[in-house]
Amino acid sequence: AVRAVDLTKIYGEGEVAVTALDHVDVSFERGVFTAIMGPSGSGKSTLMHLLAGLDTATSGQVILGDADITTLTDKQLTILRRERVGFVFQSFNLLPMFTAEQNIALPSELANTAVDPTWLDLLVDTFGLRDRLSHKPHQLSGGQQQRVAIARALSTRPHVIFADEPTGNLDSRSGAEVLSFLRRSVRELNQTIVMVTHDPAAAAYADRVVMLADGRIAGTIDDPTPESVLAGLDALRGLETQAAR
Ligand code: ATP
Ligand code: MG
Repeated sequence: AVRAVDLTKIYGEGEVAVTALDHVDVSFERGVFTAIMGPSGSGKSTLMHLLAGLDTATSGQVILGDADITTLTDKQLTILRRERVGFVFQSFNLLPMFTAEQNIALPSELANTAVDPTWLDLLVDTFGLRDRLSHKPHQLSGGQQQRVAIARALSTRPHVIFADEPTGNLDSRSGAEVLSFLRRSVRELNQTIVMVTHDPAAAAYADRVVMLADGRIAGTIDDPTPESVLAGLDALRGLETQAAR
């Protein structure tokens, strides 16, 4: 499981200080696929980066498995991340000089393990990348780059997967393929999956939706449907309108 305990993140200092996360407490259990939703600027990407140890908190803790990652050295954190965590960035972060295939294999290379060829084949076929493996990122469409980034995050079968808008650039059919795959993977591999999305239909693939607003947890929805998610988002907007008055 992954847990944020009283987690606060303030960017900058003095007049330009922004409180992106404000004393957040939230847990993500194994075998559970969670969607994080909330308005632009509500702290979704910040939360994912802190949970994955890609940025440091201002205060509070992140517990990953049995380790408080806020107390680890950079080296310990890097090892833990390579062994346990897959991350899909909002901006893909593919290496431009590497082919799609090399990008997908990168986490295994870094962890000094071999990619399981059967697993690699399954990822490549599921995400429709078979005839693009030797292309470099600039030769791929946005949606193809996104699918390479997802295949890369899944390539080592990590315990924990963080995905920031993994279907943001995909049409509804390839989006549905990615989401079905994540849904199956979380069960079969007993993973912890946390996904940011703006799309109620995508969130409905998750087991649970956590809503963020102004850097705080504003509510959760269990067994979401597109309708219950939309209703939750409407309620959130209602609260914001009241707060602004
Ligand atoms: P979006 O849906 O637009 O991706 P988000 O919910 O992911 O939004 P974050 O990227 O987590 O939002 O940003 C939360 C807040 O922190 C925003 O107000 C943003 O301007 C601020 N912020 C994010 N990164 C930085 C940074 N590196 N320096 C300063 N402020 C930042
Ligand atoms: Mg974001």
